[in-house]
Amino acid sequence: MTISERLAAIRRRIENACARCDRDPNDVRLVAVSKKKPAADIEQAHRAGQQLFGESYVQELMEKAPLVAAPVEWHFIGGLQSNKVKYLRGRVTLIHSVDRLSLAREISRQWQKEASVADILLQVNLAREESKRGAAEDEVLELVPQIAELPGVRIRGLMTLPPYAENPEDVRPYFRRLRRLAEQIAAAGLPGVEMRELSMGMSHDFETAIEEGATLIRIGTAIFGARN
Ligand SMILES: *Cc1c(COP(=O)(O)O)cnc(C)c1O
Repeated sequence: MTISERLAAIRRRIENACARCDRDPNDVRLVAVSKKKPAADIEQAHRAGQQLFGESYVQELMEKAPLVAAPVEWHFIGGLQSNKVKYLRGRVTLIHSVDRLSLAREISRQWQKEASVADILLQVNLAREESKRGAAEDEVLELVPQIAELPGVRIRGLMTLPPYAENPEDVRPYFRRLRRLAEQIAAAGLPGVEMRELSMGMSHDFETAIEEGATLIRIGTAIFGARN
């Protein structure tokens, strides 16, 4: 299958999942995860109507973005070191992976330099997996008011990368927990904190994520094929 055919199939699956749970498909945005894929693949996806792309490595994004002539939108979804934050300013419209105060402070500092505001999500490590980034739930609850005070940063929601499971049903409890956590944070009504976005669901479990309220699904393999 071509990238265009795979994208069409995914869009159909998104619409079907939305129909099953009575959601508007326009409320679910597809982030095409193009890490380790060439600019030509991104151009091809763009010709097939895909505008939004997600990248996981700053260096790769820096090298690849100038090679993509199409007017695409970028999200940053990977682990982020504070010293690389400056390269994302003016390039990405959302950072999905903020998991500590020092990182939020650096984003704040960099975006303030051009008097703009960075949209960020807090990455939550629900299963407290050593191998994954993200703050634990109790840490997130502490981080939210601290980050909310920073100028130049706006918290738009939460992101998670749950433990891998063959059967998406096994991941559903994590998606549900992320939604509950967002509801709990939203109930506090802090200025500078919106809980509009839930970034969850990947190639093998995005339909379950949609049923549990995902607004951003991050799909790589199912669009671009396996990565080497
Ligand atoms: C690579 C990656 C994805 C996409 O995973 P696929 O299984 O290829 O769809 C989604 N989210 C994050 C954070 C990733 O690093």
